[in-house]
Amino acid sequence: MLSILTQIGGILYIINRFIWNKYINKRRWQRSISFIAIYSIFTFLITPPLASLFGRTKIQNSARLKPVNFITVFFNRNYVTPELEGVINQCLKENKDLHLVYFDACFPFFDGFPLIPHLSHNDGKKIDLGFQYDFIDSDQYAAGKVPGIFGYGAFVELKREPVCPSTNYPLYSITSIFSPFQRKDLQFSESKTKKLIETLANHPKTEKIFIEPFLKETMNLTSSKIRFHGCHAVRHDDHIHLQIR
Ligand SMILES: [Zn+2]
Repeated sequence: MLSILTQIGGILYIINRFIWNKYINKRRWQRSISFIAIYSIFTFLITPPLASLFGRTKIQNSARLKPVNFITVFFNRNYVTPELEGVINQCLKENKDLHLVYFDACFPFFDGFPLIPHLSHNDGKKIDLGFQYDFIDSDQYAAGKVPGIFGYGAFVELKREPVCPSTNYPLYSITSIFSPFQRKDLQFSESKTKKLIETLANHPKTEKIFIEPFLKETMNLTSSKIRFHGCHAVRHDDHIHLQIR
C-alpha cells in the first residue's frame, strides 16, 4: 500500500522494520516514529536530487504554482520531466494573471511505475491541473484555489449523467469518493479555464490535453490536441490532464 501511494514508502518500511527487529528490540510506536523520520528524510532531502538521475524534477512551487494539498508533496506525487515543468512555467509567463494548482503528477523514479488510479502517469510527462474558479458571491478571481480539498471529485456539473456508466466502467467515476470534500463558495470560470487550456495546447511540446467532451464544446475549444480520454480513465470534468511528447 505504501508503495502504491508514495513509491518509496514500501521499501523504506521494510528497511526500517529490518533494522529495528535485528538490532534494536523496541516497541511498535518507536518503530513507527523511526519510519516517519526516515520517510521524511528521504522525501525531502534524498529523493529530489536522486530523481534527477531518472530525468525527473520535483515541481518548484511558487506563489502562482501550488499543489492542491500537502499530501501531493509528502507522497512524492509531484515529479515531472524538466520539459513538462518548462511547459507549465511558460504558460504562467504568458498569462501573468493566472494561478495554477496541480494535483497528481508522477513519481520520482522509474518509467512504467504507475501512479494509481492514473494508469498513464508513469513517465514524468503527465500532470493533472485544476480548473480556474471565481468566488460565487463576488465574481472575483479565486486565485490559486480549487473547490476539491483533494482536487478531484469537484465535478463542474454534478447532476450531469456521466458519459460512461459506472456499472460498466468503475474507474471512470472513482474520484466521486472525494466529492463530499469540497468548498461551496467557488464557481467554474469558463473564460479563464479556456485561456489556460488554449495556452497549454498552443505549446509545441504539448501532445494531448484531456477534458470531458461537453466542456470542450461549452468552452468552444478547437485544438485537435484536446481530446476525450475514453471510458477506462477517470472522468475529467474536475481537472485537466496535460501530457507532453
Ligand atoms: Zn491525468
